[in-house]
Amino acid sequence: MSLRITVIGTGYLGATHAACMAELGFEVLGLDTDPKKVEQLSAGILPFHEPGLPELLKKHTTTGRLRFTTSYEEAGAWGDVHFIAVGTPQKAGDHAADMTYVDNATTALAANITKNALIVGKSTVPVGTARRLQELVKSVAKTSVNVELLWNPEFLREGFAVHDTLTPDRLVVGGGTVEAVATLRRVYASALSLDTPFITTDLETAELVKVAANAFLATKISFINAFAEVTEHAGGDIRVLADAIGLDKRIGRRFLNAGVGFGGGCLPKDIRALQARVSELGLDRTMRFLSEVDEINLRRRERVVHLATEILGELDGRTIAVLGVAFKPNSDDVRDSPALDVAAQLYNAGADVSIYDPEAMNNARARFPRLNYADSMDDALRGSHLTILLTEWEEFTSLVPQQLEALVESNSIIDGRNVLDPQTWTERGWRFESLGRRSESVLISSSQ
Ligand code: NAD
Repeated sequence: MSLRITVIGTGYLGATHAACMAELGFEVLGLDTDPKKVEQLSAGILPFHEPGLPELLKKHTTTGRLRFTTSYEEAGAWGDVHFIAVGTPQKAGDHAADMTYVDNATTALAANITKNALIVGKSTVPVGTARRLQELVKSVAKTSVNVELLWNPEFLREGFAVHDTLTPDRLVVGGGTVEAVATLRRVYASALSLDTPFITTDLETAELVKVAANAFLATKISFINAFAEVTEHAGGDIRVLADAIGLDKRIGRRFLNAGVGFGGGCLPKDIRALQARVSELGLDRTMRFLSEVDEINLRRRERVVHLATEILGELDGRTIAVLGVAFKPNSDDVRDSPALDVAAQLYNAGADVSIYDPEAMNNARARFPRLNYADSMDDALRGSHLTILLTEWEEFTSLVPQQLEALVESNSIIDGRNVLDPQTWTERGWRFESLGRRSESVLISSSQ
């Protein structure tokens, strides 16, 4: 018999997982406590930007294979495998993760399950959560049904979420009886047929794999950004340095792009939650390096504001065009976005900030309504004294000076992502600044 799948929490992760499970042929019911989201998704409208996902949503809501609800009663009675994909944001005023949503979702679901079923956690959680939830499930589930809880962390990247869900590079499953793991193998049969590694382990390892991966990636970015600070002071070109060390296969070139740093709904809060959790375990020093990783990352934002001040003399009353506010290209996510943070810092320092982003305008406006949101890139650039590139959308990385010259007031640009060719700009008489390269070293290295 075909498995019926529910996905609890239909945000970036859950909506993607639900639509991809439908694409794999399963009947899927997505559940969210936000009725507006459920209404939109039911109508085949994706409330966020994710390439390839609108098509899957439309396709499967039309056939009825994919439905959405706010009812735990319906989900609990219907599903065989329930994925938990609700948020685990940072707590206000604390580094720890806010587990309210996971706890509420698990309690409501378990209490409403009326047939034998699996609960499979996908949210990123502090180690120890799954074992605690097992007890919670035991205490609220009906005694007439057998409900097992496993953990199956998610590694998808926003911008590539459909690809990563349909063809993940690995699957990690923590806990579960042999039968439960076999059921999960049926869910992932398509990926397994492509020889995707399927790693079964205990609950704690599964939880830790996810946060360890994110901590490693954050560290790699801050590592190169720390060297960017050095080259800014000592001379040198961070891109050449990254290329050269990246050729060492033990190091690898990916995640070594110096720039304004990492952000989004995962890396920043995950490294903070990991520190908080490890401190709770009495290991205060163990993850302390991650607070340095965090600080290096946040200092890069200050560096952009410092460069802007250096170029403009003062920010008050000066017009700055900010290109990009999403935390990364191909996403409209502005959670902890370095770009939006820089824009807000410039605004708070008195600058007249005009923003353009191909997809993230609405989300950014909802967070910082007082910034100017331009209708087009040209509108953002018109009359600006300084242009700052902060998200590497393709339409920005392919910019050439001639495109801007008829619009801007002054030929000054900060490349906050190190994606433009410095020589092209400086040869046209632009003041060109970037992160990790002094302007004079830019000239030397780019002419080699
Ligand atoms: P999100 O905020 O986009 O979505 C969370 C959803 O859960 C929201 O729609 C919210 O309304 C819903 N929700 C909250 N409480 C609920 C409840 N009790 N019952 C049902 N629905 C409820 O968050 P996200 O980015 O999708 O992240 C979800 C989890 O996945 C987090 O733990 C995150 O760390 C992890 N994760 C996210 C990504 C990513 O790229 N976004 C990747 C891997 C892992």
